[in-house]
Amino acid sequence: MDSVIRVEKVIQDFWTTSPSNSLHLGTGEKAWAMPHVAIARGDDPLFLRNKEMIGPFLWTPEEAYALAFPETPAPACELRVISYVLPQTPETRADQRLEKTMPTERWARSRFHGEEFNCDLRLHLAETLNRAGHPSVAPERLPDFGWQQSERFGFASNWSERHAAFVAGHGTFSLSDALITPWGQAVRLGSVVSRIDLPVTGRVYGDDHHAWCLWYAKGICGACATRCPADAITTGEGHDKQACMTYILDTTAPHATKTYGTGATPCGLCQVKVPCEAQVPQELL
Ligand code: SF4
Ligand code: SF4
Repeated sequence: MDSVIRVEKVIQDFWTTSPSNSLHLGTGEKAWAMPHVAIARGDDPLFLRNKEMIGPFLWTPEEAYALAFPETPAPACELRVISYVLPQTPETRADQRLEKTMPTERWARSRFHGEEFNCDLRLHLAETLNRAGHPSVAPERLPDFGWQQSERFGFASNWSERHAAFVAGHGTFSLSDALITPWGQAVRLGSVVSRIDLPVTGRVYGDDHHAWCLWYAKGICGACATRCPADAITTGEGHDKQACMTYILDTTAPHATKTYGTGATPCGLCQVKVPCEAQVPQELL
């Protein structure tokens, strides 16, 4: 298990064979398109910068690893963060583009059943690496994973899949607080911290955390703000997390539960019918 290709194969094989990679529509339709992998060093300085920005409660890879292996902590330089992207399928994106106020059935199912698969995948990858002699943990699956209040950013989790993906080279943040990746911002993310010597992917965007959003890079677009039915995105203020969560908890989540029988917190209308839906905007390439 000493190459990125082999790690990527573990992830892609699970994507191919796991019954939980399903929208549970009775058709066998998968929840996600093919995953993609990027690797960050555990001692990348951006992990500490993220902690300084968001709050002391945000785990570094070293801290997350030490929670899982308190008797045998590892120095950050010996750790790698394996981050993966699960893109929404073309069918799910096409459905969602037609909606203006509620998530579609496919989107609601990917948010619920697809995230169940994502949790399975995190654990499967960590267990596979552990069995191969590389102690590993999926921070999002730790018992202490949870949400706290960040002074600057409102409620925030103590492990951020988006920030891990940014450091690993998968993409940069959008006006709507999502991550714009080469497969767009209509994606879910996951990660595992492992004591393993893997080559890192590198960031083609350097440290610029907004490089792939048209609004931040060129002062144009704002399509995601127009798509949001809750006015939770503005070009002046960015993403209003509270307004977004209020709309989801009061409107889209009850609708999805009643209509499709799904749980979780689906919405994502701002992630489609935008230039960064399934790619980095053409103007920035
Ligand atoms: S829709 Fe435009 S402004 Fe919004 S995140 Fe995408 S590129 Fe940025
Ligand atoms: S997830 Fe929904 S409510 Fe939140 S910003 Fe996007 S469109 Fe608006």
